[in-house]
Amino acid sequence: MNYYSTEKNTPPVSFEEALFIGLPPDNGLYMPEEFREVDNSFYSVDNFVDLSYLIAKTFLDNLIKEEDLYNIISDCYNFPVPLIELKDNIFSLELFHGPTAAFKDFGARFMSRIMSCFLKGQKKKITILVATSGDTGSAVANGFYKVDNIDVVILYPKGKVSLLQEKQLTTLGENITALEVNGNFDDCQRMVKEAFLDQELCSKINLSSANSINIGRLYPQSFYYFWSFNVLYRKKGVKEVVFCVPSGNFGNLTAGVFAKKMGTPVKKFIAGTNINDVVPEFLYTGVYAPRASKQTLSNAMDVGNPSNFKRLIDIYKTKENMVKEIIGYKVTDAETLNTIERVYKTDKYLLDPHGAVGYKAIEMYKKDNTDNIPVILLETAHPAKFKDSIENNLKINVDIPESLKKCLNKDKKSIEIDNKYGELKNYLTTR
Ligand SMILES: *Cc1c(COP(=O)(O)O)cnc(C)c1O
Repeated sequence: MNYYSTEKNTPPVSFEEALFIGLPPDNGLYMPEEFREVDNSFYSVDNFVDLSYLIAKTFLDNLIKEEDLYNIISDCYNFPVPLIELKDNIFSLELFHGPTAAFKDFGARFMSRIMSCFLKGQKKKITILVATSGDTGSAVANGFYKVDNIDVVILYPKGKVSLLQEKQLTTLGENITALEVNGNFDDCQRMVKEAFLDQELCSKINLSSANSINIGRLYPQSFYYFWSFNVLYRKKGVKEVVFCVPSGNFGNLTAGVFAKKMGTPVKKFIAGTNINDVVPEFLYTGVYAPRASKQTLSNAMDVGNPSNFKRLIDIYKTKENMVKEIIGYKVTDAETLNTIERVYKTDKYLLDPHGAVGYKAIEMYKKDNTDNIPVILLETAHPAKFKDSIENNLKINVDIPESLKKCLNKDKKSIEIDNKYGELKNYLTTR
């Protein structure tokens, strides 16, 4: 199976090529030529690793030996993926039990291991370039930490990530470098894109991307959509679910659409955004108006021009088709805080700011939809990652799990640069 660019101005490539190229030269995004349905036996599989293996086999075309693939997947997902009922058929899918406590571990761990499997035996050295609004960088850094022949360069916006997020990015060392950019996430993303489109640079170093634009990160995020449906099917005989996805770059939601195409029965996707709401706005007005991002408490979703929107358009073609399956809601910081406080009091459950955006979006959805189809909230990060913003605004104490405490005592190492592409290029060519 091949992968085409959404811009269709460049020839289709294999999975391996799409994985390493990341961004096609015509500035589109890679898409699979077809979506294969996962074998119906997935309904009865009773653990996350076996289910993920079944799905991965479906899209990987025997590119990786079955035994190797199974070992990679068991190594990737050596942590629990619990589905917790909050109340009245609303469930929280806790995607934060991986090493960096955000859902990005699912994609980053898979992608790094698959890349390293392909690189084995080759003499190639590659540089992974990644822009992060907070959580991608640490998940990618962690996934590639000490992997042979791979360097990772992370761009993050100075002063716009939480203390814990910054520590996770800047304390690993070894093959990981953090560039602290005087600007916002959109600047970081733009600079990375410019690097990929710079033919001169790309002739000198093998650049690869690890943003959610990379198909190798997107696919594995479909595993937990299958999984959470499968759990409700086995335990309660549920036949169809609604997913609520706190969204920024819309990679996570696009992975959900992939899962639906591959066989997860999804009635609807609820896209919860913070005030960076270009997609919900598009779903109401049909006008897509990207703009500079604004800073919010759910900082990993502060995205003014969501990169995966191109994939959604490629799948749905028109706004009319898209609104049949996706409904969008915008949530303010005040609503986010209010939701964290209410849910903490009434459901005894501490949401992180991103999950709280999703929860509020579910409440708005429920006002318009009275069916009782189970709703699964993708709880994308551990609340401790946002200890500062929660404790500064609410009378709630947030405990940090031991696994996250370790990096707090380490020294930050970063290189500060301005938000100009020339500075990034200079670093990459002179390091
Ligand atoms: C990255 C991130 C999101 C947004 O995911 P997208 O795939 O960019 O839409 C939401 N929540 C958290 C905690 C994140 O790290």
